[in-house]
Amino acid sequence: MLLQISEPNSTDNAARERKRGLGIDLGTTNSLVATKSEQGADVIGDASGTRLVPSVVNFNGGVKVGVAALDLAVSDVRNTVLSAKRFMGRSRDDLSEAQLLGLAGTDPLAFDTGDGPKTPVEVSSEILRALAARARDSLEEQEEGVVITVPAYFDDRQRQATRQAAEFAGLNVLRLLNEPTAAAVAYGLDETIAESSVVAVYDLGGGTFDISILRMERGLLRVLATGGDSALGGDDFDEVIVSWMVDQWALIDLTRDQQRRLSVTARAIKERLSESSEVSIEASGEFAHLEDLSVTRETLASLCKGLIQRTLSACDQALGDADVTEVAHVVLVGGSTRMPVVHDAVAQYFGREPLCSLNPDEVVALGAALQADILVGNGDGDEALLLDVIPLSLGLETYGGLI
Ligand code: AMP
Repeated sequence: MLLQISEPNSTDNAARERKRGLGIDLGTTNSLVATKSEQGADVIGDASGTRLVPSVVNFNGGVKVGVAALDLAVSDVRNTVLSAKRFMGRSRDDLSEAQLLGLAGTDPLAFDTGDGPKTPVEVSSEILRALAARARDSLEEQEEGVVITVPAYFDDRQRQATRQAAEFAGLNVLRLLNEPTAAAVAYGLDETIAESSVVAVYDLGGGTFDISILRMERGLLRVLATGGDSALGGDDFDEVIVSWMVDQWALIDLTRDQQRRLSVTARAIKERLSESSEVSIEASGEFAHLEDLSVTRETLASLCKGLIQRTLSACDQALGDADVTEVAHVVLVGGSTRMPVVHDAVAQYFGREPLCSLNPDEVVALGAALQADILVGNGDGDEALLLDVIPLSLGLETYGGLI
């Protein structure tokens, strides 16, 4: 018998010993997977570098996830499932008439697709499977386990459904982490705060607003209160810009197509105004007979004032529920916090500059990745165990309608 003896290479060993943890932000509209890197954590992109994975799955003689499924959202409505997260751990009684449309008559509830009924858990498991596959392809390595984030207001059934989706996808769930806690971890707030202090996580996305008030002591993050509005986000900002354009141009009787086009333009204007102080709107195509318009940051600020005020009223409520008056840190999450008017309003409201150096779309996944890295055993042993506690009654009153 031939015995091959080789000297172990110490660097190789060190590399081999390091285990791989993944952080997954399983979002309503988009999902992301991230992992620890030398400088902190990084979101993992696909071969073309795209980092966000649309949380969309198409079932039609095969499974398509992400951009490929989103491309079919209009041409194959019946077999394409969007926003499955809104249905996780829910029963028929929890849902509105509109939400019940498109569901099969089955119990537990499921989406009616060309491949038969698919439960929200099955849909989410396809998204998780795709995210893990992306990470394995990119890192050429199998992960040891994953940390998946969930909204702080998720109840036990919703959390259980998320765990089950991960199990269906064959993933080892190290922990479910509250989204606002993950955002705080991404900024290292769990490590740097020696004394007990309060952190507000202001999360304004495309369709929802969440405010969470956390109390942080070294290693212990307690969610004191959550609040928000499940129907308030960037889409509403787009709509106030559309109304303004309709007024400026005195448009009447718009077709659905024209409305859609104005919404797309409005969104582009809004996003451009995060970089520039003024943008011009060239009337073209069917609107070519109209005058060009110019819109400034000030105009946008006055148009959005009411919507932003609604988010601040929810902050009032959450701070009251948490019974705190002083906030040590404010963390911004969600694409809409890139709007200078939102940033400034939040800074003024809390009386301090918010943390916004990390990409607000990625910050939750980054925090989950840091936590996953510690939980797979890569920490230096100095980290305090992160406890992420929510009171059981949380969200019942402040998240009107959703829970
Ligand atoms: P999210 O759900 O966190 O991905 O946020 C999506 C929302 O963020 C959409 O309404 C986008 O229009 C908005 N958004 C993304 N980037 C910007 C930007 N640079 N300025 C203003 N809003 C943005």
